[in-house]
Amino acid sequence: MADSKDESPDTPAPGAAPAVLRVAVPTPLRRLFDYRPAGRPPADGWQPGLRVKVPFGRRQLVGIVIACDSRSDWPTTQLKPIVECLDAAPLPADWLWLCRFTARYYQHSLGDTLHLALPGPLRQGRPLEARTRERWQLLVTSEAALEQLARAPRQRELIALLAQHRQGLITSAATAQGFTRAQLKTLADKGLVSCHEEPLTAGSGGQETILAEPSLTLNREQAAALSTLHEALDSYHPCLLHGVTGSGKTEVYLQLIEAILAKGGQALILVPEIGLTPQTLSRFRRRFRAPVVALHSGLTDLERLDAWEAARSGRAPIVIGTRSAVFTPLARPGVIIVDEEHDGSFKQQDGLRYHARDLAIARAHKDGIPILLGSATPSLESLAQARAGRYRHLRLTQRASRHAPAKLELVDLRGRLRQGGLIPPVIDAIRQALAAEGQVLVFINRRGFAPSLACHQCGWIAECPHCDARQTLHRQPQRLMCHHCEQQMPPPDACPACGSGDLRPLGAGTERSEETLAALFPDTPVYRIDRDSTRRKESFDQLLSEIRRGEPGLLVGTQMLAKGHHLPHVTLVVVVNADAGLYASDFRALEQSAQLLVQVAGRAGRAERPGRVLVQTLHPDDPNLRLLADSGYDALAYQLLEERRLAMLPPYRHLALTRFEAVQEQDARDAAEAAGTAAREWLAERHLAVHCLGPVPAPMERRQNRYHMQLMLSADKRSALHEAGAWLAGWLENTGSRRVRWSLDIDPMTLS
Ligand code: ADP
Ligand code: ZN
Ligand code: ZN
Repeated sequence: MADSKDESPDTPAPGAAPAVLRVAVPTPLRRLFDYRPAGRPPADGWQPGLRVKVPFGRRQLVGIVIACDSRSDWPTTQLKPIVECLDAAPLPADWLWLCRFTARYYQHSLGDTLHLALPGPLRQGRPLEARTRERWQLLVTSEAALEQLARAPRQRELIALLAQHRQGLITSAATAQGFTRAQLKTLADKGLVSCHEEPLTAGSGGQETILAEPSLTLNREQAAALSTLHEALDSYHPCLLHGVTGSGKTEVYLQLIEAILAKGGQALILVPEIGLTPQTLSRFRRRFRAPVVALHSGLTDLERLDAWEAARSGRAPIVIGTRSAVFTPLARPGVIIVDEEHDGSFKQQDGLRYHARDLAIARAHKDGIPILLGSATPSLESLAQARAGRYRHLRLTQRASRHAPAKLELVDLRGRLRQGGLIPPVIDAIRQALAAEGQVLVFINRRGFAPSLACHQCGWIAECPHCDARQTLHRQPQRLMCHHCEQQMPPPDACPACGSGDLRPLGAGTERSEETLAALFPDTPVYRIDRDSTRRKESFDQLLSEIRRGEPGLLVGTQMLAKGHHLPHVTLVVVVNADAGLYASDFRALEQSAQLLVQVAGRAGRAERPGRVLVQTLHPDDPNLRLLADSGYDALAYQLLEERRLAMLPPYRHLALTRFEAVQEQDARDAAEAAGTAAREWLAERHLAVHCLGPVPAPMERRQNRYHMQLMLSADKRSALHEAGAWLAGWLENTGSRRVRWSLDIDPMTLS
């Protein structure tokens, strides 16, 4: 093993075995390692993209060959040989390209990036081969078969079963009926039954794309958007589909996919974590008579490998997945669609901090294919691109149903008595909506019973012992819990500060609203939907299908419920408190809370009946909130863009945030100071137009008993930022102390 100084391949003569393999190994070190080839060479010779098992320290790791070289900076005799080559053919070149791009862009180790982008079994060194299953089919008429089997009753029963399934039976279907594989094999040996192997993820590619369900007739705006998309199906063509909630964006996606499939291409659809629901999937599966492969966190390792393989081989024309699905290789890339492109879940917040939407754009550009970003509340990044003419801006202003999205009605909370967070006029509105047989959604972005527990005598407030944060009171079961470190403890019986027994919950979470509403409306079912009530996936699906039956009911939920779901019977939406994002320090807080408010409001009146949205606030005169309520998201977004331009913030400037954390406060401070000083000196020497800001303590300085500091780089030009970021990462790698952990976040989504 030896450091490889140079990534640029000095390719050996064709046919000759290279002297050196430059291998990306899964370690945080941002460099390649040189090895000598050994063992049987792969069928098509050594080349980039082959997985190899290599000795690394005292372990053996699975790495990937990045380059084959005729010489190393190290004497070849000092190089260790690889243990073995794991692949006959290299992993897909487009996949390798995307991983290398990602590692470079986010200043991350290539070995770690490749590792993250591979399905588990491939990481562990399992062979890449499609797993198959056997399908058994009757070859002769059942009468002819039965004649031959007069004295074998069990085999006769099996023949009868096969006769019912003209397209054949897979082994597991037969064994589920009490037969064995040996019995099937016996029939095959007698020549009565055929057996052939088929891929586990069935389907034969997108040659003929027959719609299983007819497409809808598009309205004028949808048709205009689709025809713009049709103008460039064979080239990089970024489009922002900016359509109000319920305007039928999904229908546009479906018809675009239809066109791509008809040309033999594959479609990759990225959806937010919350968006990959059974309804979303079934909508795609109902429409196309072609396999739709879903990639989500619920898959087993082997299922994930099958899905990956189906996409890579081209057998699956449609691939839908959450964030990490952006790394799925495609045999015939045709289009990428990013649904709810503004959603925060596309950005990974630890380790490799990539943004799946941004990588999707890079990928579409490289592949020369169209990319469609859809949202009712586009990110300021995408809006700025559209405004600058770099993305086509496609608008859908009308809902497919009769009713326009409801306006936000601001309700003044000041000086009003609250019950479970709700004031009397809002409770009256809920009563009316229920009386009119509607469903009511009460949105409250705080799970638990109350955001804090306080002493009424001395003002003590329950705080997490490990974080600069308050503990949330939960009642089901009874406990105090920190939502930042998940630490739990039983609530005290008396105030730890003054001994008073008068401890009271402050504010309302979902549990408290649920309790209050159940008491106010004893004859109406109350469904609470948050992470606690839906720990099991089935319980969430069950709740949703009950809600969709349409009986009057109260839905109390966090953003789990507020985003993406089609809840046709909701006529009233109540936002318990809109204020959290209004005065937050994070520069994206306002954008994000406006997006959330509009998405929540979008749940109202999606079907037959119009909707109403009541937004409770302590700041009914806040100019931003007023603009959102009176003029809508777009007006607020364009104003926020102006503010960002003046404040020199993204999307008009590029940021890289370095985070430092340590058990000792002083260690974190020292490390951040040293990095800041070194960076400033280096920038001054280089005359590079990059600002270095800080270090400053993180907004929550102490978290999980560790101290957090931040150092920010900011630049007009992305290339300058990258030069500085690469230098800083290298500097930190070489000078870092064991006591301090650091990470670099390119294009941070939050400054926390
Ligand atoms: P969005 O994704 O923009 O929120 P959807 O695609 O979910 O909107 O559409 C909302 C509803 O309108 C769905 O029930 C859908 O079937 C219906 N719809 C969409 N387009 C049409 C159309 N052209 N004609 C009739 N109904 C439509
Ligand atoms: Zn007290
Ligand atoms: Zn905590």
